[in-house]
Amino acid sequence: SIILSEDTLLPLFQYCFGDHVWLESLSNSELNVPIGAVVKISDSGQILVEDDEGKEHWITARNISAVHPMHPTSAQGVEDMILLGDLNEAGIVHNLLIRHQEHKIYTYTGSILVAVNPYQVLPLYTVEQIQLYSNKRIGELPPHVFAIADNCYFNMKRNKRDQCCVISGESGAGKTESTKLILQFLAAISGQHSWIEQQILEANPILEAFGNAKTIRNDNSSRFGKYIDIHFNRSSVIEGARIEQFLLEKSRVCRQALEERNYHIFYCMLMGMNLEQKKMLNLGTASEYTYLTMGDCTSCDGRNDAKEYAHVRSAMKVLMFSDSEHWDISKLLAAILHLGNVEFEAAVYDNLDCSDVLDSSHFSVATKLLEVDSGELKNSLTNHSIIIRGESVSMPLSVAQAADGRDAFVKGIYGHLFLWIVNKINAAIFSPPSQDSKSLRRSIGLLDIFGFENFNTNSFEQLCINFANEHLQQFFVRHVFKLEQEEYLAEHISWSHIDFTDNHQALEVIALKPMNIVSLIDEESKFPKGTDATLLNKINSHHGKSKVYIPPRSVHDTKFGINHFAGIVYYQSKGFLEKNRDMLSSNIMQLVYSSKNKFLRQIFQGSDTTKRLSTLGGQFKQSLEQLMKILGSCQPYFIRCIKPNDYKKPLLFDRELCIRQLRYSGMMETIRIRKAGYPMRYSFAEFFERYRVMLPMSAREQDDARRCCIYISEVILGKDEDWKIGRTKIFLKDYHDMVLEVQRDKA
Ligand code: ATP
Ligand code: MG
Repeated sequence: SIILSEDTLLPLFQYCFGDHVWLESLSNSELNVPIGAVVKISDSGQILVEDDEGKEHWITARNISAVHPMHPTSAQGVEDMILLGDLNEAGIVHNLLIRHQEHKIYTYTGSILVAVNPYQVLPLYTVEQIQLYSNKRIGELPPHVFAIADNCYFNMKRNKRDQCCVISGESGAGKTESTKLILQFLAAISGQHSWIEQQILEANPILEAFGNAKTIRNDNSSRFGKYIDIHFNRSSVIEGARIEQFLLEKSRVCRQALEERNYHIFYCMLMGMNLEQKKMLNLGTASEYTYLTMGDCTSCDGRNDAKEYAHVRSAMKVLMFSDSEHWDISKLLAAILHLGNVEFEAAVYDNLDCSDVLDSSHFSVATKLLEVDSGELKNSLTNHSIIIRGESVSMPLSVAQAADGRDAFVKGIYGHLFLWIVNKINAAIFSPPSQDSKSLRRSIGLLDIFGFENFNTNSFEQLCINFANEHLQQFFVRHVFKLEQEEYLAEHISWSHIDFTDNHQALEVIALKPMNIVSLIDEESKFPKGTDATLLNKINSHHGKSKVYIPPRSVHDTKFGINHFAGIVYYQSKGFLEKNRDMLSSNIMQLVYSSKNKFLRQIFQGSDTTKRLSTLGGQFKQSLEQLMKILGSCQPYFIRCIKPNDYKKPLLFDRELCIRQLRYSGMMETIRIRKAGYPMRYSFAEFFERYRVMLPMSAREQDDARRCCIYISEVILGKDEDWKIGRTKIFLKDYHDMVLEVQRDKA
């Protein structure tokens, strides 16, 4: 038998019933970090602990080295992670976990908000809560998305600067819900209950109907990115807004993965439209349409499509869509469904693989709704015309090619329809500033963009989405790490550098340096002889040696990898050029122009693809750069949404899933820098101007702003090490802002 010496037994006695401990786990997953646990039984020579996931473990002298005492802050949980005693991944994830179990879904890291999706309706967003959080400083009340919104609004007024909220997180993490909550809060506290506020709020149901869909990850997944800029007049009352959209996923209109749906609007229309109208459009039920049944799922638990339809209808009225415009939209949606049911049969002429349209009621209804000549529709679906030496030559299409061409047409219709709708909404909610009020207008921008994606097969769309996320991560890194530390240096603040993961290199390879991947795709798309294979060769030869790029495994492999900040993603290069060109064949365009359907012609207006200058990737890159410029001119807030499990379930917290999200978003380093750093700063003059009311009367007219700043800080904040005087500015912790503002209100 083993004889235990007192030395080995002793550590066990240091733990008693109810103690909180860390337990190192034995799994060798890279996401493995110690788990929290509580001592349940303390017996002679051994203890029983129950970990955060409810599992029990006996600890004896043999495995006691896997147990460590927990800091009291971790045991209780903290509202701001910079207060954590255990400042490591285990501490962070445990803090989020115990708060999540108590329905405390919001946690600060300084002024950065971490929001864990509760997957259940919590009583956090009532009118009372809005009132409670309005005009309070961050830290006065428990963490909340309303506190961020209120702070944004307050700082817009105080600093006379535009503000923005960058909301990030993966699909299903809660970005769109957070965006809506901020919007609601701002509309409520701007306080006019005006028509314009109502219109801005009602834009959402329309955008979601046409741009959101049920996916495996999220029952209401946004399949486009958006930036909502809310405009305030000189009295800080909402006077308008503008919505910018990014890159709708058009392929979904024709194809859905298993258990996924097409855009909500189709199902809503079929469930909610009255019978008479449905009859006019020859519409039946969702199960009858190929485009709605590919995912083998036409309804979605928890969604009421008929009710949604009524909501969309009324929202459209609020946003000034006329009845005839609504009918025009319905006609095109119906035409899309009928086109999807059009079938082709193989035929052979002159030894060429050709195809014919199979006559069906769907085909004739589509013809009628699109108001085109049926012979011409047939012709443009089964032939492709190309210009050779100035002459148009018609080439017959095989059955598969014809089906692809039809899908391209449908995607074109839906894509243009979506853009038209966004423009229509903007026409209602946007009012250009008058010349003299331009400088007095302020704005708060809310960015809700598609999260990082990594599927089994990734294509051009995923590259664009992940490229956008690299940009946002870089914006975060620049703001939170780079600029911050540069400023300490410039201001002679003593500071020991904090390391962080910079994704700049990935961004360079994708889109910044000469011959970057996006520009190579663009170049190859414009080059008539370019193919996906020649593209891949070029990418290889330019980036083959980069650490960010992972070349195909062999000459036959058509996949390449990119090492993104959030992980390696392999992209299937097949189809890249066609997707980037985003062109419809000229006979389809001719067909559109010859249509008697004015609305169809209208939505395609200005999109003559032969004259269009830029490719899809080129346009996307440009609009992203524009967005980054706008964000760069704002005071930013960051909201990091976390998805706690893959099952859309309340109170289920998958630690590894969360650790992964926290890790790649740089949360660990963020906490470290927020804890050590001084994120609030004012020039001496600004600080003096705002807080001199706290000085005795006689000292208020002092002309030495620097000395006054020191004096105020010493009196209000105390002589601690937490605030610093630089060369031109005073540097403060996030919480100092709250202390100072509360004192100022009292003065
Ligand atoms: P995607 O990138 O797919 O658009 P997302 O980050 O926008 O995802 P949301 O649509 O905002 O995710 O959230 C997904 C779902 O999670 C919501 O439909 C809702 O059911 C739930 N949810 C998110 N946030 C909250 C919240 N604060 N309270 C209650 N439920 C929430
Ligand atoms: Mg969303």
